Amino acid sequence: MSNPSILILAGDGIGPEVMGEVKKIITWYGDKRDLAFDVSEDLVGGCAYDKYGTPLHDDTMAKAQDVDAVLLGAVGGPQYDNLDFSVKPERGLLRLRKEMDLFSNLRPAQCFDALADFSSLKKDVVAGLDIMIVRELTSGIYFGEPRGIIEEGNERVGINTQRYTESEIARVARSAFELARKRGNKVCSMEKANVMESGILWRQVVTEVHDAEYPDVELSHMYADAGAMQLCRWPKQFDVIVTDNLFGDLLSDAAAMLTGSLGMLPSASLGAPMENGRPKALYEPVHGSAPDIAGQGKANPIACILSFAMALRYSFDQGAEADRLEQAVEKVLADGVRTADLLGPEGGVPVSTSEMGDKIIAALDASL
Ligand code: NAD
Repeated sequence: MSNPSILILAGDGIGPEVMGEVKKIITWYGDKRDLAFDVSEDLVGGCAYDKYGTPLHDDTMAKAQDVDAVLLGAVGGPQYDNLDFSVKPERGLLRLRKEMDLFSNLRPAQCFDALADFSSLKKDVVAGLDIMIVRELTSGIYFGEPRGIIEEGNERVGINTQRYTESEIARVARSAFELARKRGNKVCSMEKANVMESGILWRQVVTEVHDAEYPDVELSHMYADAGAMQLCRWPKQFDVIVTDNLFGDLLSDAAAMLTGSLGMLPSASLGAPMENGRPKALYEPVHGSAPDIAGQGKANPIACILSFAMALRYSFDQGAEADRLEQAVEKVLADGVRTADLLGPEGGVPVSTSEMGDKIIAALDASL
């Protein structure tokens, strides 16, 4: 059987720097765990525009459709800010998400004990936090028609439409229930069924999918505004939260920040299963290309490394190896190793991007 395949799109700014550390870890898994991957690399974002005049070449798109998982670094930079909208670096990323039909966006909010002081919430509220927000990514109010700004009488009216079909709700609900089974077996679904018909349908369909296919998973429902309050009050009550595109956008950013630094946040976007049973998948850190620190060896590679851990778990069914990698990160942080973004007000000596990667590999070695 051939090795699982990965397409690396490191992108712009700190993308190639943080991805460099992931490549070392992929090599480690081949050498030390007999877990080899067929890795290919290509361009996305500004660097693709520079070479091809487009932020995502058709050949790259075709490769992305063909592999078991895409790992993306980051795209963008000030030199591309004045480009036409149609060729901006972010368009490359949007095209990947759209054409791969990545409808389920997974955003974990996990607080490593060593970084609990970084949260704006009290330490006991966030220490040990481990929740997953599943956001519907390809439908809802960001895509619904009609939309636009029209003239009505003597004023302008801005219009967006929240629209969800049953099947769109059902597939993201399934994705949340499947995840819950691999975690704490609890799903909380959030909408505004009290004021939105799309919310009423959302609640009905999630309940139907649950009762018919996942009765073993604990399901609860919450209005999204109450959910936002509960996330700040006592986030550890949640395991998996499933919600729509708009609410998910807000709730996942809020939940992510409970844990402190942008350099620590991974994400996954999953689509329908392919012929081999694996979902279409793209893994990427939440942060951008950080042009202010690019090329200086200062970037924190952990968000990108944890994104690869998600790939191990959700694309390659290697949950134990994903645990191993996450524990290696936890160990390094507990030992006090910090990139510059993780130094608190008390300061200290930061390690470089590649030193952080090397320390994590040393912790992986020690785990054997
Ligand atoms: P950003 O995430 O790039 O940076 C915000 C701040 O966080 C900066 O001070 C940066 O130095 C810091 N930071 C980010 N990642 C870090 C890391 N791994 N280690 C240490 N510090 C880190 O957001 P921005 O400055 O708003 O955007 C910069 C560029 O990135 C823009 O062109 C934007 O469009 C693009 N962007 C891309 C993505 C993506 O590729 N998914 C996401 C967001 C922004």
